[in-house]
Formats: sequence, C-alpha cells, structure tokens
Amino acid sequence: MNKKALIRFQKKIELDIISGCWLWKAHINHYGYGQFWLDGDHRKSHRVSYEHWNGKIPDGLDLDHLCRNRACCNPQHLEPVTRKENICRGMTGKHGKHSKGKHHWNYNPKLERVRR
Ligand SMILES: [Zn+2]
Repeated sequence: MNKKALIRFQKKIELDIISGCWLWKAHINHYGYGQFWLDGDHRKSHRVSYEHWNGKIPDGLDLDHLCRNRACCNPQHLEPVTRKENICRGMTGKHGKHSKGKHHWNYNPKLERVRR
C-alpha cells in the first residue's frame, strides 16, 4: 500500500479505545468484513492492513480475528490460520469480545495466556 492509499485507508478506520480494535467505517460486505478499493480491486480491509504491517499472508491461510470482530483491521488482532482452524475457532469463539483464553483479542500464543 503506498502512502496515498494508506492515508485513504486511515480515514476509514476508527480506534475503539476499549477493545483496541480498528473499526472499519466504510463499506462492509455481507459477511461483515470491511471492503477497501486498492490497485483496481475490492480487497478485504483486514487483509490489506495485515499485509501492510505484518507482511504477506502465507498462501492458503485465512486471517483469524482474535478479537472476533470482523470489521476490525488492527493487524495485532489478526492471525493467519488454516481455514479448518478458523472455522473451528469461529464455532467455539461465539461469545465474541467477552471470550476468554485463546479467543481473547490480546491472547499471546507464545505466552499461552492473555496479556493484561
Ligand atoms: Zn480487533
């Protein structure tokens, strides 16, 4: 993402100071994901964000929202996982932002616990 696109991107997000989520304020598709127009294509805003700050998403992997908020674009809330793992987490993480442990948005897999 070049600087111009980044400024455009930044204008479409709003920081939620409680959850730390970067909430997408522009177009949301019917799956609940933000849409961002980049390089002549509609891209999912959380994927654009992750790739900009964290680098390329490994081939074949989905991005899981650790905060369970699909409209969130905070790269720190995103983790590349296999589709199988993502679906599995989606089923167990249905309590949303109130979830604990591995589904807490600030869960650190290296520490195996939630960072407070
Ligand atoms: Zn988030």
